[in-house]
Amino acid sequence: MDSKPIQTQQLYGILPSEKKGVGKLATLALDMRWSWNHAADKLWRQLDPELWEQTQNPWLVLQTVSRNKVEELLKDPEFKEKLGALLEQREKAASSPAWYQEKHASSVLTQVAYFSMEFMLNEALPIYVGGLGNVAGDQLKSASDLGVPVTGIGLFYQQGYFRQLIDQQGNQQAIYTFNDPGQVSIVPLRTPNGEWLRIAVQLGSFTIWLRTWEVQAGRVKLYLLDSNDPANLPVHRGITNEIYGGGPEMRIKQEIILGIGGWKLLAAMDLKPEVCHLNEGHAGFAVLARAEDIMKEKGCSFQEALFISRPGNVFTTHTAVPAGFDHFHPQLMENMLGPFARQSLGISMEELLALGRRDPANQEEYFNMAFLALRGSGAVNGVSQLHGKVSRQLFSDLFPRWPIDEIPIGHVTNGVHMPTWDNEFSDKVWTSACGKDRWRGDLLSMESKVCQLTDEALWGLRNVCRENLVHFIRSIFARQSRLGGRVDHLNLNVNDMFHPQTLTLGFARRFVPYKRPNLLLKNKERLIHLLNQESFPLQLVLAGKAGPGDERGKALIREWIQFIDENRLHHRVVFLSDYDMGIAEQLVSGVDVWINTPKRPWEACGTSGMKVLVNGGLNLSTRDGWWAEAFSPDLGWALGNEESMAEGELSDVQEAEALYDLLEYQVIPEFYGRNDNGFPLKWLERIRNSMSKLAPVFSANRAVRQYTENYYLPAAERYKERNADKEGLEMKIFDRQKHLREHWSEISFGEIKTETEGKYHSFQVSLLLGEIHPEWVSVEIYSEGSHQGLPKMEREEQVGDHGYQVYKGKVPASRPIEHYTIRVVPFSDGMAVPLEASQILWQR
Ligand SMILES: *Cc1c(COP(=O)(O)O)cnc(C)c1O
Repeated sequence: MDSKPIQTQQLYGILPSEKKGVGKLATLALDMRWSWNHAADKLWRQLDPELWEQTQNPWLVLQTVSRNKVEELLKDPEFKEKLGALLEQREKAASSPAWYQEKHASSVLTQVAYFSMEFMLNEALPIYVGGLGNVAGDQLKSASDLGVPVTGIGLFYQQGYFRQLIDQQGNQQAIYTFNDPGQVSIVPLRTPNGEWLRIAVQLGSFTIWLRTWEVQAGRVKLYLLDSNDPANLPVHRGITNEIYGGGPEMRIKQEIILGIGGWKLLAAMDLKPEVCHLNEGHAGFAVLARAEDIMKEKGCSFQEALFISRPGNVFTTHTAVPAGFDHFHPQLMENMLGPFARQSLGISMEELLALGRRDPANQEEYFNMAFLALRGSGAVNGVSQLHGKVSRQLFSDLFPRWPIDEIPIGHVTNGVHMPTWDNEFSDKVWTSACGKDRWRGDLLSMESKVCQLTDEALWGLRNVCRENLVHFIRSIFARQSRLGGRVDHLNLNVNDMFHPQTLTLGFARRFVPYKRPNLLLKNKERLIHLLNQESFPLQLVLAGKAGPGDERGKALIREWIQFIDENRLHHRVVFLSDYDMGIAEQLVSGVDVWINTPKRPWEACGTSGMKVLVNGGLNLSTRDGWWAEAFSPDLGWALGNEESMAEGELSDVQEAEALYDLLEYQVIPEFYGRNDNGFPLKWLERIRNSMSKLAPVFSANRAVRQYTENYYLPAAERYKERNADKEGLEMKIFDRQKHLREHWSEISFGEIKTETEGKYHSFQVSLLLGEIHPEWVSVEIYSEGSHQGLPKMEREEQVGDHGYQVYKGKVPASRPIEHYTIRVVPFSDGMAVPLEASQILWQR
């Protein structure tokens, strides 16, 4: 890991003649570690307090302040000492063995490439929209904490996502700002000879140039690509302007840049990751570029190369509805990838399209990126337990006739990077309980230590957090409503807004209908009543963006703004505009209860609720996504019950009433119920449970360890095995896979004899296998609900009459014999079944 000070001549914006101390400051400023480890904040504040508060961007601060000021401070012994100490700490954090080095020192895994369309590391590098970027950013940071060798690959957007302004009438206005690459914490990625690395990719019949950038995030790096290279045509320069901008044509171009450009970048840097992790189907084209590399290296065909690389690809799906998958018209695919498919991969367009179709033979079908990613990967997972289940259903068409619980999709529930989402006060409380390095190991003793936290400590924490949020709300609201022209119009004294001791609820998310951001407004009278109860008031802080073209989402925002204005509720309810990571940090820090109301099972996981855990906030949510597995009545509240929602679900009106009931009869009384010392004991017990039981489990630390041990390490092993040599085993498996595909239909059942004798049912079946080698299939006795380790039948040495193979097997007679049926599936040695060979034949 490279932790030497960055040389000033490598930088963009710092001149080679600069003093050495500036280089040291630059090294610190360019390491995104400052954004979750606030140790260096004081230095930046000293350089330029105002700019630092406004931007939270040390790199910008360093470039902006006068050189005199920098030199003056560099002469100050205290400043110099602090700088030296911080560099030393950074060095130590980068080079000392972490969890991975200690636990998996001898593993074959040296590098994971993590592809994602968005990364949310800090609000000062705005290349994200929301949840997906949060998952990617937080996992990258935890990989750094744990020493897992991950390298991120993403796009550098010239504009990123829009910024939100709310006008007088409550309309959302979209504002686009420019991400000046010289002023965000990225530097040009240079090859060893000092050249700025540029990558060429093909877009249809054009070759376009991509610029490359490097972000240092603690021990790990994130590489970014953009198309704004002056050597490109203007239409190509704009491809990476806006995240998820434009229509399908823009999207496919961005995805080609991410997947194919990203893989080429790794190759150009001589990085050879064993594992390529596709964070959502957007990155699916990476499997094509990886296969192309192997074709060149081994001189094999595309299909062979895809086969060889497949075990090294891991695909994480984040979508809970089919409409969420990116899919492209076949003609668009031809326009963008036709020449690449034919010339570089040596395959026809039909062959390429087949990889992204449910039915490869259907010429009409669009190309689905998630199908490509799944077909190109050796392991697939959803992002919560429930979402794993939903995904098995969503992808079941690719595995016809397989039982739903054997569809090869597992799950790793997302987690958040706790050091990012804690605040200075909760950090102190946690440090007193679990020490400074608490999020860098395996968290084994965390629960019992956090349980020891006293009522004083927890209530003190909540009060100071809430008070800070109230101050933040007042100052931000004053500024924001001036901007939107709402201040005169409202005639408000912001110091009357919100109260530090009032129960504070938070609700912030994308304003899309499935999240039901207006559920609380279903019965406005009742909400107003709850907000204004004399001795037990409520206050509510809201934030969220609707997609720039999403009129329904924008109407939902307007409804809230109008509700607040018309009922003069500004002292109790606020909608903060421009929800981003900075606002999220403040909200999850200060709220007492985080509310989430998605329509089950549309929320694949959801992460914002996890962010309040570390700060002693509690959750009240639908049993969807992560909350379906996290909820227990002693640590939060659940809306709706699982059973009824599975069948005839409750209407929104019914659920809203249930939400009001929960607030009125449980949440509010518990918060305001105090003992003689002024503590809400029941509430504090919930906080203790929520912090101690949930924070470790729903941390990115846990998620990254799980990815490492359950996905990356096995993937690296299998990739190495299969990649061993071209003439060897892997080609035999490839041939077998092909053979099975071509000849499977020749298998048929002959006579089946069953008999129950004592404690066993025994089975004898005759099978005609046609061209298929008897060793390449497995004959299993199946019964519903017990697919794990199905009993396999033994083949008799002697081939029966008319070429029938005879198989025998038995099972304990604990269930009636009619519960059993025989099936034939490919034999799985070295091959992922059914992911790589989805054939199956049932007796009935
Ligand atoms: C955490 C976060 C999200 C994701 O929240 P969900 O609960 O998954 O909707 C979105 N945007 C921002 C700015 C966040 O911080």
